[in-house]
Amino acid sequence: MSVLICGGAGYIGSHMVRWLTERDHEVMVLDNLSTGHREAVQWGQLVEADLMDPASLDRVFARRNVDAVMHFCARSLVGESVAQPYAYYANNVTGTLNLLEAMRRHDVKRLVFSSTAAVFGNPVADVIDEEHPKTPINPYGASKLMVERILTDAAEAYGLRSVALRYFNAAGATSDACIGEAHACETHLIPNVLKSALGTGPALKLFGDDYATPDGTCVRDYVHVEDLAQAHLLAVDYLQDHPGAHAFNLGNGRGFSVREVIETAATVVGNSIDYEVAPRRTGDPAVLVASSSKAREQLGWTPAWTELGPIIESAWRWHQSQPW
Ligand code: UDP
Repeated sequence: MSVLICGGAGYIGSHMVRWLTERDHEVMVLDNLSTGHREAVQWGQLVEADLMDPASLDRVFARRNVDAVMHFCARSLVGESVAQPYAYYANNVTGTLNLLEAMRRHDVKRLVFSSTAAVFGNPVADVIDEEHPKTPINPYGASKLMVERILTDAAEAYGLRSVALRYFNAAGATSDACIGEAHACETHLIPNVLKSALGTGPALKLFGDDYATPDGTCVRDYVHVEDLAQAHLLAVDYLQDHPGAHAFNLGNGRGFSVREVIETAATVVGNSIDYEVAPRRTGDPAVLVASSSKAREQLGWTPAWTELGPIIESAWRWHQSQPW
């Protein structure tokens, strides 16, 4: 299969590129390198192009036949989306529309789209399944939900087959520490914990210990980036026999508090990890845990990384290997 990976120089996209290449698929990477890294594209062919430039998309699709597109390009920081909503709607919605139109012009009918738990907003259930109300509380989540709606309409109007995969908390790195999570401005918990342990990041802050959770800190569902890659490939296969627009939640179904993450990381690095308790971060729901029963049953998804310790260990190996 020949797959175009939009955003293949980013964190999840680069793991996808490797996953497909190892399984003998042909990969072409489209990335504008605004937040992605050229050195993360170690397999396949990198084409620098921008979703905001439709002519450049035509040139990408003209290069070779594409059987399916996986679309990871997005701005994805909740706080930034609140401060710069136009940038988020332009990049995440208009950019995706440009991609969809190019796919239509070039008769490419299968898409796997990176969606997010942020489409659900504040949860009204302990475990979030696909039927949970979708009331995003920030422009990032709203932009992703808009695209999900567009995909439903595109299935009806143009026969586009799509799967939206709603990630909970993506984490970890390849076992051989070859690629990992490298954001220029790091906001995520596990990299921040590990960077503070290495002394390569700022002092660790724990945002809020007064939530209505067992230890007062936020609970999240951490899912390994290679398990996400596995789900994308299964999703493309699924579209072979399933027309329409589909959506699946992807998580491990188990929540860990921020304190539990810090404690597990301390065991992994073999040292205590200092932190200071800071005020709550705006827009953080107390608990986000996925039900992934639908993905398991319908896609045949079986996450390999079900324990938090090994997920953090894989991230730690990669962090240690970096020059920073
Ligand atoms: N968090 C924290 N310190 C950090 C980064 C994150 O306490 O340096 C908390 C954050 O407030 C949230 C949880 O860790 O409760 C997970 O945050 P992350 O940004 O990793 O993922 P999100 O759930 O926001 O997508």
